[in-house]
Amino acid sequence: METNYPKFTKEMKKTHTILFPDMLPIHFDLFQSIFEKEGYKVACLHNSSRKVVDEGLMHVHNDACYPALLVIGQFIDALKSGEYDVDHVALLMSQTGGGCRASNYINLIRKAIYDEYPSIPVVSLNFSGLEKDKDAGFKLKLKDYLRLIYCAFYGDILMNIYNQVLPYEVNVGDSKKLLTSLASKIKAQIGTRKLYKLKKNTKMIIDEFSKIKINKTDKIKVGIVGEIYVKYSPLANNHLEDFLHKEGCEVVVSALMDFIMYSCDATIWNHDTYKNKNKIAFIYKIFYKIMYRFQKKINKIITSHSDYEPFHDFERLKALSQELISEGVVMGEGWLIPAEMAALVEGGCNNIVTCQPFGCLPNHIVSKGMQRTIKKHYPKANIVAIDYDAGATQVNQENRIKLMLSNAKLESMDNK
Ligand code: SF4
Repeated sequence: METNYPKFTKEMKKTHTILFPDMLPIHFDLFQSIFEKEGYKVACLHNSSRKVVDEGLMHVHNDACYPALLVIGQFIDALKSGEYDVDHVALLMSQTGGGCRASNYINLIRKAIYDEYPSIPVVSLNFSGLEKDKDAGFKLKLKDYLRLIYCAFYGDILMNIYNQVLPYEVNVGDSKKLLTSLASKIKAQIGTRKLYKLKKNTKMIIDEFSKIKINKTDKIKVGIVGEIYVKYSPLANNHLEDFLHKEGCEVVVSALMDFIMYSCDATIWNHDTYKNKNKIAFIYKIFYKIMYRFQKKINKIITSHSDYEPFHDFERLKALSQELISEGVVMGEGWLIPAEMAALVEGGCNNIVTCQPFGCLPNHIVSKGMQRTIKKHYPKANIVAIDYDAGATQVNQENRIKLMLSNAKLESMDNK
């Protein structure tokens, strides 16, 4: 097979639309505006019919993990939909830079599309210097990375508070409407200094959500943890958050920034432990310190200005994980999954759905594989591990979650 793949040239910035797969609807909407501000034409893909899975099955080897299958299926389904001029599109994929397959999706995508669409460039978005030579026309500047970080924090704050208000709103639709309008306000700040007013914007989000009329009844809290793509993506987890809301639960989803800090921490740990010459570790150390300071600042604002739950403190997550698993387990989501489960139970959210994609060895070990250890340390933990793959039925997944919810209801009745 030809390996001289097409590059994304500077000229293409004006002529091509860059397609990227959805994962976190709130965050990715903000990220899209950052790319647009820089003059790129971009489109976040939301196609989610069965055709996506079928295209994935047809174009990806069945050894590959389910997220790879879905992402590639979504791209190919979009290319075939007739909605885009295939002579003027490029595909964008993020790469974590770790040892997992997520870093290698890009080559799977190229292989999958090459026969039918040999001239479509596949562009990489990463913080690790990967694919440097390939995408002369797609270059993000320091200010863009800064905007991405701020928007990741704002996405987390919006998602966190929205999830705490939605189940209790008196007028159905109020929280969703507010979420959209607050996201638009943040998007309008991109390119201005206002975006960097973390304190002001956090307070603004809190104040606006506090105006929503709520009826704070007793609801079962359910935490969602797991592999990053199936945990967040409604396409991958069959709209798990919506399902839990319909079942009358309050959903707790951890922050994207936890994963970003975990990825930094993993690189630093590898560098310090194996004394490798990875220069990026030095930058990550500074970056990590700044991110952690931001997180503490946001948590302080949330706790001092509202009754909303703040984010898990990242250093606390790390400390919790060290009682359960080695810090050296950094493949896939590594120690972060057991840490999040422990933090949820510690914070009073005993009910947990842990999402695992088919073909994902690392996350089967650190989520399903850690269930027993978690239960030993936290006897109240009520965990259900759900597998997501092309053959699993939604009914079966939801029935298993309903069983976990019945245990939660019995437990809450016992405690009354
Ligand atoms: S963590 Fe698992 S699902 Fe995610 S890219 Fe790696 S193998 Fe695939």
